[in-house]
Amino acid sequence: MALALDTSLTYLKGVGPARAAMLQTRGLQTVEDLINYFPFRYEDRSNLKTIAQLAPGELATVIAEVRSAKVSGMRRKNIGLFEAEFTDSSRAIILGKWFHGAYLAERLTPGTRVALFGKIEFDSYRGEMQMMHPEVEYLSGEDDEADSALHTGRVVPIYEAAGKVNTRILRILIHRVLQEIPEAEDHLPDHIRTFLKFPTRTEAIRTAHFPPPGTPVRMLNEFRSPAQFRLIFEEFFWLECGLEIKRQKARLMPGIQFQLTDQVREQIKRLLPFKPTGAQKKVLKEIADDMAQPCPMNRLLQGDVGSGKTIVGAEAALIALENGYQVAILAPTEILAAQHYLSLKPLLRKVGYEVALLTGSNTAKEKVKLKEMLRSGLVPVAIGTHALIEKDVEFARLGLVIIDEQHRFGVMQRFGLVQKGITPDVLVMTATPIPRTLAMTIYGDLDISVIDELPPGRKKIVTKHYSSDQVEIAYSAMRREIDLGRQAYVVYPVIEESETQAMKAAQQMFEHLSGEVFPDVPVGLLHGRLGSAEKEAAMEAFKAGRTKILVSTTVIEVGVDVPNATVMVIEQAERFGLSQLHQLRGRVGRGGEQSYCMLITEKLSDTGKERIRTLVESQDGFVIAEMDLKLRGPGEFFGTKQSGLPSLRIANILRDPDILEAARHEARAFVENPPSPDAFTKAVIYIKEHWQRRYGLVQVG
Ligand code: ADP
Ligand code: MG
Repeated sequence: MALALDTSLTYLKGVGPARAAMLQTRGLQTVEDLINYFPFRYEDRSNLKTIAQLAPGELATVIAEVRSAKVSGMRRKNIGLFEAEFTDSSRAIILGKWFHGAYLAERLTPGTRVALFGKIEFDSYRGEMQMMHPEVEYLSGEDDEADSALHTGRVVPIYEAAGKVNTRILRILIHRVLQEIPEAEDHLPDHIRTFLKFPTRTEAIRTAHFPPPGTPVRMLNEFRSPAQFRLIFEEFFWLECGLEIKRQKARLMPGIQFQLTDQVREQIKRLLPFKPTGAQKKVLKEIADDMAQPCPMNRLLQGDVGSGKTIVGAEAALIALENGYQVAILAPTEILAAQHYLSLKPLLRKVGYEVALLTGSNTAKEKVKLKEMLRSGLVPVAIGTHALIEKDVEFARLGLVIIDEQHRFGVMQRFGLVQKGITPDVLVMTATPIPRTLAMTIYGDLDISVIDELPPGRKKIVTKHYSSDQVEIAYSAMRREIDLGRQAYVVYPVIEESETQAMKAAQQMFEHLSGEVFPDVPVGLLHGRLGSAEKEAAMEAFKAGRTKILVSTTVIEVGVDVPNATVMVIEQAERFGLSQLHQLRGRVGRGGEQSYCMLITEKLSDTGKERIRTLVESQDGFVIAEMDLKLRGPGEFFGTKQSGLPSLRIANILRDPDILEAARHEARAFVENPPSPDAFTKAVIYIKEHWQRRYGLVQVG
């Protein structure tokens, strides 16, 4: 039977129901999925060193045979150290050691031939080379001996195992399939293929799995062989094409053409409590220009914490309001919604507009009344959480939607909201500085404005790290600042989405601080379990300076703005992510006074240390976000579920920003100026059929 790309893997020789189920866990269902499952690493087994040639410190592969093996550990048998002696033609010995490795005893029996990969060390007690926890690949085993030339004597691809379908089995399956599949049609535009001297798609897939002899392994492991380059480029190219087409479509939709009259400009001037920075002026101009266009605005406003996004949002709102439209402002949490409400209400009231707050903790009666007022257009500005985008909320004349902290909402909700009005303008604001390349991928359908300048007079926040037994130092700094008339935050992490524990810790700390450490100082408490009126009251009291210390769970992470607060104490700082810590620190240093951030930690892992060190050393949100991404990877950085991150097969945003730039450039040129109408139509169909599902957020058609 001839294989087609959509042939189910269950039809392959060697794939029964059990293996099919395991492959499925990695999303591998069809032949196409399988051939696009690329190795994450390559080993050069073409001219391997013998054991005798190995030197301590190097990362190496050896092919050797088990000579003897035992579970050892003397008195500490329970930890089950499994130790095997391996030897090869050089007669030298290398030891492999695995803690908790007793399970290996069954397979690593004398005579078994394996490839070992790991770091070479010297066991000075035994006087032999050793590898701790090397990767093992069994070279003689259940599979067809005829395949064995695949696994040695060449550059060998290493795959991430899918359950018990290990790298060796995958190698065999993929190799077999690649020999049987027909040459696929190449969809990349000809001029790009010729210009960049790309191999054909099928050729690229073949050689990315099984590189031809002589391909430098280093180049392969950097994912820069011509085959890999093409595949990475291609993946980005279609993604960016999809995003570009989506943008183009959005531009054709009828939107609201807001008028920027002199009166509107006058009102904006009246709104401003201070002189805007150059960066604020620049982004406002970008936003205002968009709003004056007849097509809907889709813009992302990025700016580090404290850069002054709020006022820019208020200015945009005012443009819509002055044109007779309503404005909806969405925040990710109730606290943040309440905070926006507190800061925008006085601003907008000054220019004659009322602001309403709609959250999950409004009573049913309040909700009904508010909704009625939104529907009849009596309320010009509504601020809220997801309650604002429930199906039954209608606006009379919704003109602008401002979404704060977009990445927490996810793409679908952005869509849901936009459906409410005709096609309102959308401004997304984020305080998480997203590295440019990532922003291009996730928000590729949005235009981006960046506030790259802080308001004048800001001082660097002095950031210190203390262990929990040094917490007194933090208290004395708090005392000193409070005596100077300033205020302080003490924050607890919310652990694993559950507020309860953090709330208890915050409650205890509140009692400890207010009862024992600062009995003479008014202390406030803020956590997610409070009702919205209580939250508002706690924030109001701190804002007005009636309380000097605010003990809180992470709910204040974003948005709270009290320029008089100069101390931020973060308890259990090891539990926070890097970007989160940066956001928290950004709650202080918002006025002209010297501010302090104190990170208190209990136990620190290596990455924990790295996070704290980064924060102590840097205050640049972009540097911090890049580091955060490196430490956590894009998935976790955004929270996988809501991220809207496209799942890429071979491309990697962190490793390949240069290729992404190039692909984006070509994709734009292609969409704006396709070689022929026919080529364009074909591309759209191809994207729809082959890429849309993976990219998730790209609704091209
Ligand atoms: P973020 O970007 O984190 O939302 P905010 O909009 O809350 O920042 O602004 C941070 C602080 O800086 C606020 O206290 C705000 O009033 C103040 N601020 C913003 N812009 C300016 C400016 N141009 N001049 C002086 N202070 C400003
Ligand atoms: Mg803000």
